[in-house]
Amino acid sequence: MAFPVTRLRRLRRTGELRNLVRETRLTPDAFVYPMFVCPGEGVRKEVRSMPGVFNLSVDEAVKEAAEAHGLGVPAVILFGLPDKKDEVATGAWEENGIVQQAARAMKREVPGMIVMGDVCLCEYMSHGHCGIVKATPLAQSLGAAARDTLKSARVVVVQDNGEKAKAIEKVASQMADYARRIEFEIDNDASLELLARTSVSLARAGVDVIAPSDMMDGRVAAIRRALDEAGFINTPILSYAAKFASGFYGPFREAADSTPQFGDRRSYQMDGANVREAMREIELDIEEGADMIMVKPAMPYLDVIAAARERFDLPLAAYQVSGEYAMIEAAARNNWIERDRVMMESLVSIRRAGASIILTYYAKDAARLLG
Ligand SMILES: [Zn+2]
Repeated sequence: MAFPVTRLRRLRRTGELRNLVRETRLTPDAFVYPMFVCPGEGVRKEVRSMPGVFNLSVDEAVKEAAEAHGLGVPAVILFGLPDKKDEVATGAWEENGIVQQAARAMKREVPGMIVMGDVCLCEYMSHGHCGIVKATPLAQSLGAAARDTLKSARVVVVQDNGEKAKAIEKVASQMADYARRIEFEIDNDASLELLARTSVSLARAGVDVIAPSDMMDGRVAAIRRALDEAGFINTPILSYAAKFASGFYGPFREAADSTPQFGDRRSYQMDGANVREAMREIELDIEEGADMIMVKPAMPYLDVIAAARERFDLPLAAYQVSGEYAMIEAAARNNWIERDRVMMESLVSIRRAGASIILTYYAKDAARLLG
């Protein structure tokens, strides 16, 4: 039946009617609130690029979790800023790690709160990568280095001996660089042991859900095995199954102090152009024992969320990441958009795409508006 019998505007006439026929409903019980825990006491340090988001010491994190819980937010996910970093991510898996401390305190003070633990190594590694780095010197001979140098050399005209000396120095230092060249690789299989150890340590501290975000192959199976062996057969895994190498993580790196010191994460995080590969990643994680799956980031990857919802029956989460948050905040601060309206619209879009769980820095604010 077409116009004029059919008029879709009839059901848009009043707020009550629009509410009645609304297809997608947002409720605070879909939200997971990400928090960054740091050493100290009474610390509440705002992240420069994420206004309203803080590095919190354990005592402050507990207060914040209690507030979120009071607003109806059922879960938090914890990230840690250790006081020291090293080459084996000790801060991630030691018994008294910063997240372990926070988890114990939260389970004690806010017992109804689901505490999720992000499992990755980047925040705890001195080099900022998500796994163990293997450095291979290319062991180039001086002759080969000289050849490489000549290949990239350009003709320079020198006026005097001073300039000539400078030019020679430049060539020599280039040659030395070539001779010393080191290749870095993230060692997948060696990293699994540390990820498994971190997961068990978090479970021991009371973390309810283990959420690996590193993107190493085989991590879910390794973590499941380690949890089971340690007696945590009932601790579920929420896997960051399709995590894309994204520019939208920029502000997070400031918040979690986890910028890689060299290279980037494209050799383990996914290429943003690939949706079929995302389905394979998710499928493998499910086979390895994931209980819930996640797509990250959310808004630039809504089609991936929709495809995953269509194909898989597990609870599906999406992470509205730091850059998504920062863009809305920055535009709102300029009065270019209405903050609350855009915040809610962005969350509804993620839900509509098919995610039933949303990790969002807006958890508290959105819950307040929905309450
Ligand atoms: Zn990482």
